[in-house]
Amino acid sequence: MTTGDTRPSWTSIEEIGDVVRSCTKCALHKGRVNAVPGSGSANARIIIIGEGPGFNEDQQGLPFIGRSGKLLDELLAAVPIVRDDVFITNVVKCRPPDNRDPLPDEVIACRPYLKRQMELLDPRVIVTLGRHSLLRFYHEGKISKDHGKILRWEGRILFPLYHPAAGLRNPAIKKQLQEDVLQLPEAVRESIRLSAPAPQPPQPSTEVSESQIAEQPTQPIAEVPETPEAGTQLSETQFTNETTEKGDRQLGMF
Ligand code: SF4
Repeated sequence: MTTGDTRPSWTSIEEIGDVVRSCTKCALHKGRVNAVPGSGSANARIIIIGEGPGFNEDQQGLPFIGRSGKLLDELLAAVPIVRDDVFITNVVKCRPPDNRDPLPDEVIACRPYLKRQMELLDPRVIVTLGRHSLLRFYHEGKISKDHGKILRWEGRILFPLYHPAAGLRNPAIKKQLQEDVLQLPEAVRESIRLSAPAPQPPQPSTEVSESQIAEQPTQPIAEVPETPEAGTQLSETQFTNETTEKGDRQLGMF
């Protein structure tokens, strides 16, 4: 069920799958054999996001089942992680013709499905595969520079990797993929640290005498921005690239 593209209210991953399989919101539905909503655990704490289905995925309605999928499985096995531990999907759920890049209007039309999948799964780690998937979250990202880095995105970990298809075409990229994926366990650990409650300051264990109170220095109170706009700009939409000193970065689609 949906209240419109901007406020989808699907209540489960399965329901999104059903809606995607009958979706005609963009031109990609005309050439598909099957839509590919995604597969894996509905309790996954890791979501892996590719760009769009290829030929084999379109034929079977499942993500990453061709040669790219085989390489992805090999990469995950090195960690080790199996598909049942993760949820795998794509930015667009129907195959672009001749495996071309998805067009902006196709990405926009398909956006509510990925957005709602993210809301329902609430993953701690987002693994993007390839440039286009990275750009959905990080407009200024460059896959050649950011691959294998552990980044923060809205209280989660963003972990960009090259697309396995690029690894199949280029042995150097495949080798880099094999090295980068070894950082995935650390990305998971970092996501756990990120979601852990902040330590509480120690509480005074004894009563404070009046003379001690008189000796207490006055604590300065942090200034609150006078305008609501100034405050909201420093909200949850901050992006921090931990691997550089540049600090805040521009956000992607969500
Ligand atoms: S790509 Fe997405 S928006 Fe376009 S038809 Fe397929 S499911 Fe619908």
